[in-house]
Amino acid sequence: MSAAEDPRRLDLDDLRVRAFGERGGAVDDSIPELAEADPDLLGIALVTVDGATRASEQADVKISIQSAVKPFLFALALQDHGSDALDRLGIEPTGEAFDAIKLESGTGRPPNPMVNAGALLTAALVDGDDAEARSRRILAGLSAFAGRDLRVSERIAENEHLLGDRNHALAHLMRAEGTLEVGADDAVAVYARACAVLVDARDLAVMGATLAAGGRNPVTGADVVGAAVARDVISVMATCGVYDGSGRWMRRVGVPAKSSVSGAIVLAAPGVLGAAVVSPPLDAQGTSVRGHAVSAALSEELGLHAFGVPSH
Ligand code: GLN
Repeated sequence: MSAAEDPRRLDLDDLRVRAFGERGGAVDDSIPELAEADPDLLGIALVTVDGATRASEQADVKISIQSAVKPFLFALALQDHGSDALDRLGIEPTGEAFDAIKLESGTGRPPNPMVNAGALLTAALVDGDDAEARSRRILAGLSAFAGRDLRVSERIAENEHLLGDRNHALAHLMRAEGTLEVGADDAVAVYARACAVLVDARDLAVMGATLAAGGRNPVTGADVVGAAVARDVISVMATCGVYDGSGRWMRRVGVPAKSSVSGAIVLAAPGVLGAAVVSPPLDAQGTSVRGHAVSAALSEELGLHAFGVPSH
């Protein structure tokens, strides 16, 4: 049986070694902890929707989740608010950078939940009477997606909060537009804590697999979100998950995914598997260069491209 028929047979360490040939990109320097990342870190993991797990060397090295948290914040907001959350923000790709200071014209809503404006809002929509309660609910929700108790790096959360000037600007802009109902500083603090959750490739692969399995964690068996929520989240990952690189990603990899400045990428192939790659050097859109290459190879070897037809 070939790897294309059975993902459990894929040799992730071989894939990993091949990816070292890919040398471009630069590590993010928005906060000291990201600037200090090891450019040679490379972890790969995949988890099928029936819970089989494969992991490469370094798949257990922890990094901050950063923007790879956005699909899961969107999922929790949808779970807590139902379709009301969908009225509060757009779902259209922007063709702009993740931190663009721009809201939907006419409505003042964030353009989609995968850019910073949208994630500031989805984090604020999660149930909880105050910032602390929302942060607790988010951490519990992310832990359910990952199937283990995750924790926050306090130093990273603090620096994200302190140094996230564009996020403060976006929160104030959304307050001015009447889109954000909680205080601007609280919104940034909750989002910053969500970005500072520590995960490894294995955790992210389980999180992606939970979406791919329709909201049920295939490792723990827990129902984390409903199937309709998981479908909505994966749809928006497909169109907006890699920001202004989403078109290029969809053509080359063809699997809905979310990138992040820590170099993590989480992928969800509905009904098949979740996967993750962690490698810090980024391209101009803030997507891991090796992560992109490994994802393309995974897609190719496992026949995961959403629009590909097996050649005859
Ligand atoms: N910490 C980042 C921010 O909000 C997350 C961005 C990202 O990973 N693209 O600015």
